[in-house]
Amino acid sequence: MKLCNSLTRSIEVFTPRNPPAVSLYTCGMTVYDFAHIGHGRKYVGDDILRRTLSRFGYHVTHVQNVTDVGHLSSDADEGEDKMEKGAKKYGKTVWEVAQFYTDHFYQSMHSLNVLRPTVICKATEHISDQIALISKLIQKGLAYDTPEAVYFDVTKFPGYAALFGRQKLEDKKAGVRDAVVEGEHKKHAADFALWFKRVGRFADHAMHWDSPWGDGFPGWHIECSAMSMKYLGDSIDIHTGGIDHIPVHHPNEIAQSEGATGKPFVLVWLHYNFLRVDGKKMSKSLGNFYTIEDVVQKGVDPMALRYFYLTAHYRSELNFTWEALSGSAAALKELQSHVMVLRAQSQKRHTLSDEKLEKIDGFRKRFDDALANDMNTPQALAVVWELLKSNITSQDKYDLLLDFDQTLGLGLAEIKEAAVEAVPADIQRLLTEREAFRKARNFTESDKIRDALLEKGYEIEDTADGTTVKKM
Ligand code: AMP
Ligand code: ZN
Repeated sequence: MKLCNSLTRSIEVFTPRNPPAVSLYTCGMTVYDFAHIGHGRKYVGDDILRRTLSRFGYHVTHVQNVTDVGHLSSDADEGEDKMEKGAKKYGKTVWEVAQFYTDHFYQSMHSLNVLRPTVICKATEHISDQIALISKLIQKGLAYDTPEAVYFDVTKFPGYAALFGRQKLEDKKAGVRDAVVEGEHKKHAADFALWFKRVGRFADHAMHWDSPWGDGFPGWHIECSAMSMKYLGDSIDIHTGGIDHIPVHHPNEIAQSEGATGKPFVLVWLHYNFLRVDGKKMSKSLGNFYTIEDVVQKGVDPMALRYFYLTAHYRSELNFTWEALSGSAAALKELQSHVMVLRAQSQKRHTLSDEKLEKIDGFRKRFDDALANDMNTPQALAVVWELLKSNITSQDKYDLLLDFDQTLGLGLAEIKEAAVEAVPADIQRLLTEREAFRKARNFTESDKIRDALLEKGYEIEDTADGTTVKKM
């Protein structure tokens, strides 16, 4: 299997340290607000990675943190603490906010058929591990204490500035800060906080613990180093995150972990590109912020969202529109209808001729090759559709489809007649066609389709965000 390693910026053959075991650490959510469809993309990406590794015979131990303390508005230690921001916004305590949005996150992931990590670890439940690691860094001369915080000294970690090719990044401002902020005792602007003290801007900080450096709370980056070390050891096989983690969070994790252990921290760094909405960054103020529930409330199966994620390679940006989602919903319905028909037709096992076997193997090989090639999910989906169009027996198609779906995770084995009936494929197709006419402002044609749908017993309603359909 090949994966693109962001650290070397090349596609490498993946050779885990102790096969068939694979250790996987995936940076988790900061639980101060609702999980949205952008988060869904990243965590479905992790899920595909994990399922692909299992497909190829690896035994994955998957650890995921929950950031419930220490993440400030800017990844480079500036601004307000996100948990306190959430608490103010929702009129709850930071602890209530953390619990509520952790639950919400894992419910959202469950609805997207994302497998639960082997270990879920909360930063607030691992304070002593973080303190121990910070002490080690101080002992090694890699960190220093100041009146407001304990900082990591980036100049003591050779090559820090060039990690992930950052020196070559055009967007230098996304990397390290240029100036030390007033009131801080940092030696270098790029030094980052390992432990914030409950003084100055954090004098009233709600979450705080005792430490050798006084009352306070950990910085964001240290939790991932401490918890990955605790559950997976000093060196791990794969570590993932969104591309926003490349400039600050992941270089800091490397500096902390390798600084403390003197061993290579991660074999392969994998980064997912972002989901945008209508070509823009998702944000509540732009009114283009959607949760998984928002999708479900529009009558769309969350598996359609999962299918939509798979239509793009994980390293490409993906643009969400309701039209594009409705295209994926139509494709999923069609796939589900095929499953129902194939299931009905494949009660008996057929004898396989050599020629047929070869064809089946061919499909399986091409599907595996697509995933083995840096998880090319659009290519894997293309193989699914070719398989459905082929002339191999229904039984073989059905078996292969369910085999493929163990990795795609679209829930095809569980699909029930009722779900397919909810919006049949032909209705979904008409909806997609009508959407295209509406977009082209051809209302004569779109009205014709509306009437045709009414005749078939389906009533549609157009809203600013797209169209919903109801069976009458
Ligand atoms: P956060 O809790 O916001 O720090 O994000 C948790 C994970 O989701 C990180 O790995 C982010 O990179 C990722 N993420 C956040 N927003 C998006 C988005 N719009 N598209 C893809 N991934 C995202
Ligand atoms: Zn992390």
